[in-house]
Amino acid sequence: MAETKNEIREKLKLLRQSYLTQLPDQLDEIDACYEKLIKDSENKKITSNLHRLAHSIKGSSASFGFSEVSDAAKSLVQLLEPFKEKDTHIEAGILSEVRILKDLLHDAVDSMNQKRRKKVVVSSSSASGDTAKTGESRMVFIAERNHLLLEEMSIVMRQFGYEVAGFTRCEDFANALRNERHSAMIIDFELLQENLTCFAEVIDMRKEMDEEVPAIFISDCNDVNTRLQAVRVGSDAYFVKPVDIIDIAEKLDSLITGMVTEPYKILVVDDEPELAHFHSLILQEAGMDTEIVNSPLRVFDRLSEFGPDLILMDMYMPECDGMELAKTIRQMKAHFSIPIVFLSGETNVDKQMSAMIMGGDEFLTKPVKPEHLISAVTIRADRMRTIRSFMDRDSLTGLLNHTRTKLSLNIAVARAQRLATQVSFAMIDIDKFKMVNDTYGHPMGDKVIAGLARLLQQRFRKTDIIGRYGGEEFAVVLTDTDVQFAYEMLDIIRTSFSQIKFRHEDREFSVTFSAGVAAFPEYGNVELLNDAADKALYEAKRSGRNSVFIASK
Ligand code: GH3
Ligand code: MG
Ligand code: MG
Repeated sequence: MAETKNEIREKLKLLRQSYLTQLPDQLDEIDACYEKLIKDSENKKITSNLHRLAHSIKGSSASFGFSEVSDAAKSLVQLLEPFKEKDTHIEAGILSEVRILKDLLHDAVDSMNQKRRKKVVVSSSSASGDTAKTGESRMVFIAERNHLLLEEMSIVMRQFGYEVAGFTRCEDFANALRNERHSAMIIDFELLQENLTCFAEVIDMRKEMDEEVPAIFISDCNDVNTRLQAVRVGSDAYFVKPVDIIDIAEKLDSLITGMVTEPYKILVVDDEPELAHFHSLILQEAGMDTEIVNSPLRVFDRLSEFGPDLILMDMYMPECDGMELAKTIRQMKAHFSIPIVFLSGETNVDKQMSAMIMGGDEFLTKPVKPEHLISAVTIRADRMRTIRSFMDRDSLTGLLNHTRTKLSLNIAVARAQRLATQVSFAMIDIDKFKMVNDTYGHPMGDKVIAGLARLLQQRFRKTDIIGRYGGEEFAVVLTDTDVQFAYEMLDIIRTSFSQIKFRHEDREFSVTFSAGVAAFPEYGNVELLNDAADKALYEAKRSGRNSVFIASK
């Protein structure tokens, strides 16, 4: 379960504290290095080690918001910069400057730690007034004066998997808004305007709500003024009566699913665990899923298993640096297009450029402002999602395309074999679809295809895989499901689909489908499953259509 914002904030606070408490150990390392340097002032290795330690404190302390510590470390970095790659003797004068700066760094850390101790004493406890996590609700409020239209809309919305509460009076609607959970509303604009006090109340309530609930307005008027008025009171979509209820259902879907997209998955690669954790929490607070890898070489395991939308990568790490890692990832076909955002203390523009050439998409310098980190990551992860969906999905329905469905079936069967479970595979084909096209036109045919796709998406589980197999053919892979259960689900959906009323101009019509289903392990591999489901579908068609058949040997 996702952590609440307060939990995450509390964690961020703890992380900052724990970072501070471990800083003295890092300073001890710096001291030890300095002692070595006094004895061996020509040793390049010691100098660059000292430089690296200071550089790392500079970046991480700034990220955690300890600017005094970071500034002190920065002075040390600058002092050592000219010596880190040369075997030159470091004069006594420079060495004493190193000591002064190093002591300054100690002072800065001590003072931060003292401040923290004081704060801990003052603030004995912190409140964490978590708001209850709102579960997924599919309740739609429909406010409509006309009983018949309200009834008709309710039926269609229920067919599309929504729960519905209907209102014909503005007062009842306002009352329900105030007291009951809902995930969307469809409002007859004229109903609102009939009662202006109530109208104002509804608008105020919408403004006060924490999360915006989508609102679809339907109205008798098609003039710009009324439309504008609707926009001003927060409409997300506007339909003119007589309305096409299927269109409204489609809009509702896109408004609702647009809001609950899968969280972006971000792989955070940084050899400093505290910092990785810190950045990861910032991203989590923005609603993303994160995984941390502290050792660069482990990235390759996680890429396949976690399947991130983006990699947030540190530049300098022990086993291999970020640039090498990015280049290696880019040379793998499966990960060629994954966005890589570098996050590093490197401020040298030339080095940043070469990091980009090696395969980075963006370079952020530590310390990065949380909002910058979030927006840089979101923009790129979002684009990645879109590109991926273009490659894998059918553009009309948004379902997986034939190749991707077949691939998913392969994976599901392999998994079922490994875990000794069952998989059902169904093929669905719309009945006499040619007639739909011929009678109502190709665009209407497209609407029917999209309508069935939506119904399938709503009725099957998240774990099931739904694909558009061909023109008016669909395929569904039901994981961990035996053939009898798959049959029952398909038959319920078949009934629902047949009851949907499509509207074309002034005519209403309905459409049916036939389906064939077969299951693994009865049919022992992908080809056999495919053939068996296809044959069962053929039998269903032969028996008169509008039915589901189970494959039999
Ligand atoms: P049956 O019940 O035997 O399945 O009959 P049918 O008419 O559905 O089957 P047939 O295979 O003869 O015709 C399918 C039609 O689907 C032919 C084709 O023009 C149409 N079609 C295929 N893809 C699309 C599409 O993307 N949009 C639309 N509107 N029509 C499509
Ligand atoms: Mg066909
Ligand atoms: Mg057909």
